[in-house]
Amino acid sequence: MHCPNCKNKNLGKIGVNQFYCWDCFIELTLTNGRLSLNQVEEDGSLTTLDDLFEDQELNLG
Ligand SMILES: [Zn+2]
Repeated sequence: MHCPNCKNKNLGKIGVNQFYCWDCFIELTLTNGRLSLNQVEEDGSLTTLDDLFEDQELNLG
């Protein structure tokens, strides 16, 4: 599995279905074979990045 954003495989596992990209600092959540990408803001809130990607890039199934 690689990060759809930077294409690197520098992912850390932070939960059962959650990963973190150490290269572009985004959180990846895997749900039913589909990735959801979120950027962690300085105040700890999450901003979704899903809109920036094509469906096929996020669908790992
Ligand atoms: Zn990345």
